[in-house]
Amino acid sequence: MCVKWFVISCTYGIHLIFIQYGIIYTMLLEDDEVQKYDYTAPPMTELTLILAQPRGFCAGVDRAIEIVEKALQLYGAPVYVRHEIVHNKWVVQDLRAKGVVFVGEVDEIPDGAITVFSAHGISEKVENSAKLRDLPIIDATCPLVTKVHREAQRYENEGRQIILIGHEGHPEVEGTSGRVRGGVLLVQTAADVAKLEVENADALAYVTQTTLSVDDTKDIIAALKNRFPNIAGPELRDICYATQNRQNSVRDLAQQVDLILVIGSANSSNSNRLRDLAEEIGKPAYLVDDARGLNPAWFDSISSVGITAGASAPEHLVEGVVDAIGKLRQTRVQTMNGDLENTRFKLPPEVTGEKMLEKKAG
Ligand code: SF4
Repeated sequence: MCVKWFVISCTYGIHLIFIQYGIIYTMLLEDDEVQKYDYTAPPMTELTLILAQPRGFCAGVDRAIEIVEKALQLYGAPVYVRHEIVHNKWVVQDLRAKGVVFVGEVDEIPDGAITVFSAHGISEKVENSAKLRDLPIIDATCPLVTKVHREAQRYENEGRQIILIGHEGHPEVEGTSGRVRGGVLLVQTAADVAKLEVENADALAYVTQTTLSVDDTKDIIAALKNRFPNIAGPELRDICYATQNRQNSVRDLAQQVDLILVIGSANSSNSNRLRDLAEEIGKPAYLVDDARGLNPAWFDSISSVGITAGASAPEHLVEGVVDAIGKLRQTRVQTMNGDLENTRFKLPPEVTGEKMLEKKAG
């Protein structure tokens, strides 16, 4: 700034008005003549946000959360839940604030305290250890997971060895493995199939983790059928509807947008898979718990963002993300054409009032 302007500014003042992407400054001159310098910012393009349909809570998660909330109402806090009821940080924090105590194992639960099993299901051993202690139990296992347990048991009763397609260490895999007396052979990839050592190649059956979709499992199933032509397995319709629907919608969405955001927790298997799918289509994709996980730089120089949510992520987190992006860029929000889901699962009698449990402690 030259000396002349410095003097003028000290004498008459300079008003600086900043607006986003541009600066207009007005200088009051000695003779009151107003001289304006307008710097026009590059036009700020609108950012289109497209919300996936369907997204977020599935019927199994809805039911599990409702079971815990009704247990709190009917029996009072504390209610003990073995394992996170669903894999979402927000849901867990919210229920904890209402009086839920989450534990890793049944032996951490005091005698007589109301005990809830999570949506992922449990092994027979865990169930028996709770029953041996006469704990008042409410089972929030998703009915679709229970269906997989029954399928595995039916195949085993037919004399077949069970192959489970799933992710090692996932609670659902632990629960399903623990429902089969002879144990399971776990396969995670098509390459694992070649390494399987089976007792009788003609007496095998496979079942799958519910948070894998038809698409996730098809290569593995093809490899199994190729190596073991007589293997038995469930109909495709047995795969979880919610997992498949969310994956179908994110696949469509990723074709239409520059970037995909998946709302979900890092330990949510189905949320991670949604992010992976978008990346496989070649789009940058990020998994965030909530709006605090957003990086403003992601939204520079793009014109559209697709937003979805894993089966355990509540809708208010999606709304928070939409609002937060709206503070960074001018946005237009649309929802994809997609089927609304109307699946509902029945609640267990212990929370509907049909059968009351006796709470002795807690
Ligand atoms: Fe049940 Fe499917 Fe939801 Fe898992 S993702 S809780 S199997 S409805």
